[in-house]
Amino acid sequence: TTATGVVGRFAPSPTGPLHFGSLVAAVASYCDAKSRGGQWLLRIEDVDLTRRVSGASEDIISTLQTYGFQWDSEIVYQSQRDALYQQALDTLIASDSVYPCTCSRKEIADSSTLQGIEGAIYPGTCRTHAIKPNVTPAWRMKTSHVQIGFKDLIQGPVAHWMDTDIGDFVLKRADDLFSYQLAVTVDDAAQGITHVVRGADLLHSTPRQLCLQRALGFTTPLYAHIPLVTHADGQKLSKQTLAHPLPADNVIPTLLHAFQFLRRFPEPIPVFQRLPDCWDWAIRHWCPYGAA
Ligand code: GLU
Ligand code: ZN
Repeated sequence: TTATGVVGRFAPSPTGPLHFGSLVAAVASYCDAKSRGGQWLLRIEDVDLTRRVSGASEDIISTLQTYGFQWDSEIVYQSQRDALYQQALDTLIASDSVYPCTCSRKEIADSSTLQGIEGAIYPGTCRTHAIKPNVTPAWRMKTSHVQIGFKDLIQGPVAHWMDTDIGDFVLKRADDLFSYQLAVTVDDAAQGITHVVRGADLLHSTPRQLCLQRALGFTTPLYAHIPLVTHADGQKLSKQTLAHPLPADNVIPTLLHAFQFLRRFPEPIPVFQRLPDCWDWAIRHWCPYGAA
């Protein structure tokens, strides 16, 4: 780590090429970490092998290079870290914080009555009933009637009741894949991340990550969830809505567009001829989240 101890990260999922929305998130986390004299790490979130698109990680990495991002230390791939995630799950099993669940999708759909923040809440059947033999179980976190909240540096206070807003969430799936919530919590802690800057689509995942941090004895980083870039009709830009891949031949204007979107720079933003000058200026002029 550096003198300031600040560590930020960018954690794309390799489900397709980077688009403008991903660039905005990358720029924000990069400028925020670098302007605080910190490190910036790159983590490829390929924990969900079923969503991985072949060639996408290489494509993302080369696009980040084309745009002039420089990450510190080696790229981390979640697909290579099962042992670390299993160790965390074992800790939670030992502290009786989790339980195995063999409910099918249909059984869950037929039995859940409570609506939470992200849809139907798992009714906790396997918490009180015997699980099916000879079925690989999923593992769920035991949630209770506690409110877990934090103060986002951009969005302000966010809090969830873990039982009625979220419910017993999955840490490991029946197909043996670890969930995003577990993997991201373990990795942010293992990599010593102090500042998480990411898209606001993940705002409502954060209380679950805090819940896991507490159960695992990890410290909680600061969070800043940046507003999402949307289509003109307000729809989220994503790989699913076919946001255009970032251009390789119009780098500086595209970066300046991202700088403008973020509104953390003094105006007017100068026009640059060289990419290194663009980044030098950006890191010196970025207004860190929480500073103003
Ligand atoms: N891999 C996630 C995504 O691409 C981001 C995870 C995070 O920043 O916490 O949406
Ligand atoms: Zn179950």
